[in-house]
Amino acid sequence: MLEIERIPCRTDNYVWLVREPQSGAVGVVDPADAEPVEARLAARGLVLTHILNTHHHGDHVGGNLALKGKWRCTIVGPRADAARIPGIDVEVGDGDAYRLGAAEARVFDVPGHTRGHIAFWFPGARALFCGDTLFALGCGRLFEGTPAQMWNSLGKLRALPDDTQVYCAHEYTQGNARFALSVDGANADLVARAKAVDAARARGEATVPSALGLEKRTNPFLRADDPGLARAMGLAGAAPEQVFAAVRGAKDRF
Ligand code: ZN
Ligand code: FE
Repeated sequence: MLEIERIPCRTDNYVWLVREPQSGAVGVVDPADAEPVEARLAARGLVLTHILNTHHHGDHVGGNLALKGKWRCTIVGPRADAARIPGIDVEVGDGDAYRLGAAEARVFDVPGHTRGHIAFWFPGARALFCGDTLFALGCGRLFEGTPAQMWNSLGKLRALPDDTQVYCAHEYTQGNARFALSVDGANADLVARAKAVDAARARGEATVPSALGLEKRTNPFLRADDPGLARAMGLAGAAPEQVFAAVRGAKDRF
């Protein structure tokens, strides 16, 4: 349905190479830089047809113009932030469908990290490309949005099936696990996952993608409506947005 390959970039970025075998369409999600993408395309003998951008940050669009200059590929990005996406051809937003060859993605507006952030969900491939909105055991910093906005955005992603694979854009999991344990250390699933993450990193392995079902049980930023986490934050009975804001604030200071 979709072949997905990880291209590590810069210090901790993951660019995702996505090939739809029926049509031969080949996309990259959030190319931080052109060179590592070019190297992988050359190694596999692939022709780049698409760039999918989740948001405007330089470590997500830095390779756009060089790749487009060479491949004349189509750049798809957030309608709400089109002016900040270099070389954008197709603007998409909440509820839109976009086809990469035979594979259809649904688009979600997920503002919070930036005001025009989007996510691409390929239901047939059970794959979610969510940029810097949802991370393994974390979520993006609120540079341009409010906690209530981000909680609402994460709610859209949390509503997807448990077997969805979360292809986020950074390897932040081990640091995120340390913070998660500090607020939700009584969560047995989280304790077990943190151990597994440490072991994987000690072996030099990536921890992304992760299963959304596991995120729902262990990621504190998806659990702001959990009464136990609210109590742990000293906010028993508070609105989830409030608990979310407290967890996000604690992470910013961690
Ligand atoms: Zn970002
Ligand atoms: Fe980023």
